[in-house]
Formats: sequence, C-alpha cells, structure tokens
Amino acid sequence: MTGFRTFYDFGSLRSFLNEGAKVPQIGLVPTMGALHIGHVSLIERALKENDIVVVTIFVNPKQFNNPIDLEKYPRVPEKDLALLNVYDRVVVCIPQVNDVYPENDPYEKIELGLLDTVLEGEFRPGHFDGVAHVVHNLMFYTKPSKAYFGLKDIQQLSVIKHMVASTKRPVDVVACQTVRDAHGLALSSRNLLLNEAKHKEALIIYKTLSFVKSNIKVLGKEETLKQAQAIFNQSSLELEYLDVVNQTTFGPYKKEGDDNVCCISAFCEKVRLIDNILL
Ligand code: AMP
Repeated sequence: MTGFRTFYDFGSLRSFLNEGAKVPQIGLVPTMGALHIGHVSLIERALKENDIVVVTIFVNPKQFNNPIDLEKYPRVPEKDLALLNVYDRVVVCIPQVNDVYPENDPYEKIELGLLDTVLEGEFRPGHFDGVAHVVHNLMFYTKPSKAYFGLKDIQQLSVIKHMVASTKRPVDVVACQTVRDAHGLALSSRNLLLNEAKHKEALIIYKTLSFVKSNIKVLGKEETLKQAQAIFNQSSLELEYLDVVNQTTFGPYKKEGDDNVCCISAFCEKVRLIDNILL
C-alpha cells in the first residue's frame, strides 16, 4: 500500500486504507492547504511515527467568524499536491463540506470554558467551536492513532487536547515545534498575502515575543508587557492582543511556573497574524 494518492471523500479513503491484510497505523495531519515548510515538518514527523500519513486539506467554513477572511484564505490545491507527491506513504484527502459535516453529524458540542473566552477565544467568537468540530470529525472519519498539530497555534492545540479528552477519541495528540523563517517570522499560509515590505515589518512580532521571553523573569509581567507594547508600537502593525498565560489552561500567568506562554495577535495591513513563545 504505497504510492502517493489523493481522495476527495472519506468513503474511498477508508476503502483504500482497509485494502491490505493489516490495517495500517495512521497519522493524521489536518491542514487548510496553502502548504509550507511548517506543514511539511508535521508530515515528516508523522511519517516517522506511522505507516501512512493522511493529510487533509479543508478550508473549514465553521472556524471563520469573518466571511471576508474565509473568502480571502489562499487556496492553491495544485501547488499543495505538487509539494506532497514526492512522499510515498502520504495520502491526501480533500473532502467536501457535506462529507465533513453530514446530516448525521457524529459530533456533540462540548464546552470549551476559558479556552473559548480569552485571547483567540475573545477575538474570534465561535472559532474554537468550529475547530473542535472539524478536528473531531476528521478524526472520526480517518481513524488515526496519532494526530499532529503545530505549537504555532497553541490555543488551538489546547482546544484539540481538551476535545479529544472530552469526547474520548482514541488518538494521541502530538505537538510540533513552530517553524520560522531565517528572521524569525513564523511560517503561515497567510504570509502569502503579505508583500515584501509588509513581510519585513511583520518581523516585529517575533522581536516583541523574544523581548518578553528575555525580560519577564526580571521585570515581571506588567512592566515587561508595557515595554514590549512600546517596542511593538514603533511598527505600523496594529496590535490586537499581547498577553502571557498558562500554556495548557490559558488561565493566569504564574511567575513561578515553567509552563507559561506569551501570545500575540496583530494585523499587518488587513492580514491577521498570530504567534507565541513558550516562556
Ligand atoms: P493550517 O493549515 O494553518 O490550519 O495549519 C495546519 C497545521 O499546521 C496546524 O496544526 C498548525 O498549527 C500547523 N502549522 C501552521 N504553521 C506552522 C508553523 N510555522 N510551524 C509548525 N506548524 C505549523
């Protein structure tokens, strides 16, 4: 059962996966396409740990609270397939909306608590309900042993861990390091929407995060965030939030803890960028 394959519905994907005498161990990498090296790092990790890697490409309408953002989201399926077809044990699934959300939907909504009310939760109402729903259904239909997610979207990662625990899906959630460009900008499909000048200006995001990491233990939370904001405000980007929280619960930052994270969201022109750094 080798060779790169593409499927457009879960039924034919499952038939293919069940073809052999032994059901393969599946690693799932859910994506919204416009793939870059960050996605590839997840796929390569999954290849090391599984027989077959299922990469889903699905721009999930339920997680966009802003219709313009959904419309503008980059879609380059041919490029994506060209990037992946060198991998022998990768299978791509590009399902339709009805396939992911059938009438007889297997998902029962769960409570997300604090995760849905702070930072991304506050600024993107309904976003994480959409994320929990889509990832649940992708897991339900592709039946992976493991699923891979980037620390780049750390709040999303916590939501997914919470969803998996609440719905008792038998899947290991694997967290993967954020891949950055040579200057520190976290790779993102949305970077495709930035011109060269804006790309350069967006580097202020990582500079701000690095400042927080280097100073918070000495200066404390309030003073560090104040100075970090001043640094950030020298740029033309518009800050949405900059805060430090516990990286699992997204509850308050605790000075003594070694499990804090600094999260940032900013608009670079009309492009919304998020990033974080573990403290
Ligand atoms: P997306 O297509 O943006 O929904 O991302 C699909 C997966 O790739 C998510 O688990 C993201 O967290 C992960 N991802 C996106 N950008 C990066 C990056 N720069 N480094 C590592 N993982 C990433």
